[in-house]
Amino acid sequence: MTFVAEVVAPIERIAVAYEDVHDPACTSEVVGRYALCPPDVVDRVVRCAHAARTAWAAMPATERGEYLARAADAVERDLGARAELLTREQGKVLWESQLDLGGASRLLRYYATLAAGVGEEQVAVDERGTTIVRRVPMGVTALIVPWNYPVYLCLMGLAPALIAGNPVVVKPSEFAPLALSQTLASIAAVLPPGVLTVVPGTGAQTGAALVAHPLVRKVVFTGGTTTGRAILRNTADTIKSVSLELGGNDPAIVLDDAVLDDRTIREIRRSVYTCTGQVCFNIKRIYVHRSIQAEFVDRFRAAVDELAVGPGLDPRSAMGPLNNRRQFDSVGRLLDQTRRSGASVTELGRKVDAAGWDRGHFVLPTVVTDLPHEHELVACEQFGPTVPVIPFDDEAQAIAWANDTEFGLAASVWSADIDHALHLARHIESGSVFVNSHRVGSSDQTMPFGGVKQSGLGRNHGMWAIDECMELQAISHRPDTSAFPGPP
Ligand code: NDP
Repeated sequence: MTFVAEVVAPIERIAVAYEDVHDPACTSEVVGRYALCPPDVVDRVVRCAHAARTAWAAMPATERGEYLARAADAVERDLGARAELLTREQGKVLWESQLDLGGASRLLRYYATLAAGVGEEQVAVDERGTTIVRRVPMGVTALIVPWNYPVYLCLMGLAPALIAGNPVVVKPSEFAPLALSQTLASIAAVLPPGVLTVVPGTGAQTGAALVAHPLVRKVVFTGGTTTGRAILRNTADTIKSVSLELGGNDPAIVLDDAVLDDRTIREIRRSVYTCTGQVCFNIKRIYVHRSIQAEFVDRFRAAVDELAVGPGLDPRSAMGPLNNRRQFDSVGRLLDQTRRSGASVTELGRKVDAAGWDRGHFVLPTVVTDLPHEHELVACEQFGPTVPVIPFDDEAQAIAWANDTEFGLAASVWSADIDHALHLARHIESGSVFVNSHRVGSSDQTMPFGGVKQSGLGRNHGMWAIDECMELQAISHRPDTSAFPGPP
């Protein structure tokens, strides 16, 4: 099946260059194309959004909630065709694209239900006078979106920004802009003009111009830590609020009493290989108590060996290709280095279409053993379908190793003793810790989600995300100033 999808420049009749989007399962195939918006287009879009901000901010939040509910209805139409498009451009298997797209309406409806609590004022009148504390929208919000879960990760920032009363400008990733832009077009169509705009283009040109724009008051970024640092630098001159959801190097700690049944093994397999390992909070390293290491590795390898790798649209595929050439080269380099280091790299799974294998960014899943905790594969965010398994001797060592990283997005503890696992979780330095699971669903929209250390700044989900998009304002009237500190 061939799709033709296009993300055009947001300003009509403007002549810009276009870039093709290739299918990672067959890189010679073009799935669609996107406009390359230069800085002057970004400037005009941001000015339109800025002009729309006053009316959107002045509207009661409950009315904005009604817009979000209508937007949820709109994105639910055409889900089927959009999921196929997302798989064609991103690579992941179809059910994962459906999961990604399904998050859009879920998040819009959820934030619509929070509307009543948005922008409430606390008014205190006492003998000193009147004090009002209120939250106000920040203004134009830029969302910089990655290519792994483009729709969910965009909506995770978009829905709270909108309900808070901010107009939003979205820059999708050049590696997966199509299904997201279609979704955003459905949402924008039900919102007042200027409240939501997409500026397609590359990160280096369009993204950099957007985050540096003086009228952008808030940047919400999801992506790599290196880009997160660049965004912090590029926003310094215009002093704006920045939320960063960056990489992770999530540890899973499997205690000696963990139940190594099919459910546990399959849960851990899913937590490692979902989206071909390209999820910020996938398990990236597994620490297993030495007493059960051999049994765990045997069972885990057997489960991973069941994975069939092929095009995401092929119903036989359990895992698709890596998304882009840069990621494919990076994972390949890491595996070569790991093999050369003497670690044991076991290649597992099978090829769905051996003849078409070299046409896409396909990689078989691997499990790596016989490597120390200090190994590069353990220290880095591999963002690919490979995982190191390392034995530990006692819990103190496992916790120390789990925390021995500049990342701190999520972690998991696997044990039959839930109370003990919940206790141990408190010692792990990460934004989230899960017990006996570690995947989408372990952290839902009602729980704060984000990283500590270099995994990010700020929190997504719930009222926490709305508060990140609003400023606190204090208003006071003190009739008697005679008791104020200092000379009269
Ligand atoms: P990036 O961090 O470069 O891309 C994320 C988004 O940022 C894309 O929309 C990109 O645009 C944009 N961008 C890039 N440079 C700038 C800039 N200077 N100013 C503003 N926006 C910019 O991801 P990569 O593809 O380079 O991946 C690198 C690593 O990041 C991966 O190996 C992985 O470790 C991690 N990663 C983490 C993700 C997460 O969910 N936390 C998601 C993706 C990657 P464009 O794509 O058009 O260049």
